[in-house]
Amino acid sequence: MANSKSRNTSLEPAEIARETIKRMAMQRIAPTPDNYQRIYNEIAGLPHIESLEEAMARALKQLPRDRVENIKWISGWEKLLSSRNWKSLPLMLVSEMEQKVAQAKRWPDAIRDLLRNWDGKRSGLTQQRKKEALERVLINFANDPSLPEKIQAMSRSWSEYKASEDVVLSGTENESQAGGDQASGHSPESNNALPGQSGLRVAALQESIRTAQDMLHLSLQHGLIPRLDGYPELQVDARNLLKLAEKTYKPEDWQLLAKQLKSLFVRVELIGVEEEAIKHDLLSLLKLLIDNISELVSDDQWLRGQIAVVQTIISSPLEKDLIKDAEKSLKEVIFKQGSLKHGLAEAKHNFKHMVATFIERLGTLSDSTGSYQRKVENYHEQLSNIDDIVQINALVENLMQDTREMQTGILRSQDILNEERDRVLATEERMRRLEMELTELSEKVRIDQLTGVLNRRGLEEAFVREIARAERGDSHLGVVLLDIDNFKRLNDQYGHDTGDAALQHLANTIKDSMRPTDIVARFGGEEFVLLLPDTEMNDSVAIVTRLQRELTKRFFLHNNERLLVTFSAGISSYKAGEQQETVLHRADRAMYLAKSTGKNRVLTEDDLERARNNLSSAV
Ligand code: GH3
Ligand code: MG
Ligand code: MG
Repeated sequence: MANSKSRNTSLEPAEIARETIKRMAMQRIAPTPDNYQRIYNEIAGLPHIESLEEAMARALKQLPRDRVENIKWISGWEKLLSSRNWKSLPLMLVSEMEQKVAQAKRWPDAIRDLLRNWDGKRSGLTQQRKKEALERVLINFANDPSLPEKIQAMSRSWSEYKASEDVVLSGTENESQAGGDQASGHSPESNNALPGQSGLRVAALQESIRTAQDMLHLSLQHGLIPRLDGYPELQVDARNLLKLAEKTYKPEDWQLLAKQLKSLFVRVELIGVEEEAIKHDLLSLLKLLIDNISELVSDDQWLRGQIAVVQTIISSPLEKDLIKDAEKSLKEVIFKQGSLKHGLAEAKHNFKHMVATFIERLGTLSDSTGSYQRKVENYHEQLSNIDDIVQINALVENLMQDTREMQTGILRSQDILNEERDRVLATEERMRRLEMELTELSEKVRIDQLTGVLNRRGLEEAFVREIARAERGDSHLGVVLLDIDNFKRLNDQYGHDTGDAALQHLANTIKDSMRPTDIVARFGGEEFVLLLPDTEMNDSVAIVTRLQRELTKRFFLHNNERLLVTFSAGISSYKAGEQQETVLHRADRAMYLAKSTGKNRVLTEDDLERARNNLSSAV
């Protein structure tokens, strides 16, 4: 076996480049510089050098996602990598640096407070107790960016513990003494415990409450509220609880909070049940659709395989990646559904064939009755020439035999005709059903049945996606409207079927000469719309002009006659914030200008603007 490396290095760079582009188009790989480089190297047998972006993406994947801050940080960078919007990179770096600096600045204050309160005697806490409290905070918040604040809050509580103790204890121990002095003897520990122990208990309790508050805050803010999108009432209630939790110290307030939390969770659980039911219904609907497609294409093994994949995926627990796979398979199935049309054409062919057999049988029938007629005439003639009774008897015997043969011939023909008629009726029925199902399916899909490119509905959806992409990446989006020249004449001259074939020819030529990321759609009749992502006006013009040239090279053949199909096109460029209709309208106006100034031309919205200005200055 030849070594692929040595074979490929013998290729010319231009050949490798061509092969690379071909492979990217065939495998539908996004046309990014990195992908191009990777596949180019693969084909040329060169080692793959990882780009900065790839390395970064790989590194991000390996980072731990165990804390909200981490997840936020990682997803921020991943978003930047996937959008490739490098404009926001300096801003991100500056904000990270500022955060680091701000965090570093918090430490001196925290250490200063800790030192000041370490030796303070007011709380009655020993240094040993303080050390234990500090240990606890260091263990609980070791990886938390808010560690300096926690230390600061703890050390301040050592000096302010009395006020806090009163707040904490007033609910359970001595309502009337709220705000009173611990030394007055109303504290629960005043009789049998040292003031130091009581202070420590209060500080620990306080710390626990703060930790619980933090945890509740995190759970509501990052766990629950974002998942309640679509349920604004519940979100408002959850936010109110969040605020309440921040101010809750007394035990009875905690009980009230717990009650409200419980009622919120019951409601959340209810919507969970509801969503589960919706999910279940949607899945049933999808299953029904898939099963019906499978019914319709029962004799196509390839399609059956694809459908089986989708069926397996939707019958197991849903997973994001699996759903994406199902979507891909379904798209292929829907596209392949275009081939059903061939089945329809075949059914029509059968029908014609059977009608022909019918006529042929009718011919045979009249032939056999015709030859019987001739025989009878013949017997008649013989009969007039013979008188011998024996001979007459023999002749009658022959006549009877012929009559019997003809009768069976007629009966056989009748049976065959009946069979043919039944078969024709069955084919007719199959055709009718097929046509009906095809129409129903066509309404569901986004592909134009005649040309295989997107239909108008498919275009609308693709347009929304491309506009969003252009807005996100602040990139250009070229919009082309093209209309075949003198198509009515072609239809009139060569027939509607030839017109249809010309539309397919144009669609195929467009598909072959566009980039994989470009979007081709049949806008209606003999009009097509192309969406060219990341394409400036000059490049759009070059692409459409190239297509024009390609059409003159690829003749459209009708009965071996070469017919030249030309089009007129108008091009516009998407402007941020505008509607798809607006940018399409400008392309449409430019296309009409191309029609009115001679056809077989490509004009842009700028040409249109210039023509308008010339007109107004001439007036
Ligand atoms: P112009 O150069 O000004 O565009 O002239 P035209 O003849 O191409 O345009 P016009 O709008 O007068 O006619 C379009 C014709 O396209 C009329 C219609 O019968 C034909 N048409 C529309 N849809 C189809 C189709 O699906 N198949 C076929 N064969 N013809 C179609
Ligand atoms: Mg038209
Ligand atoms: Mg036309």
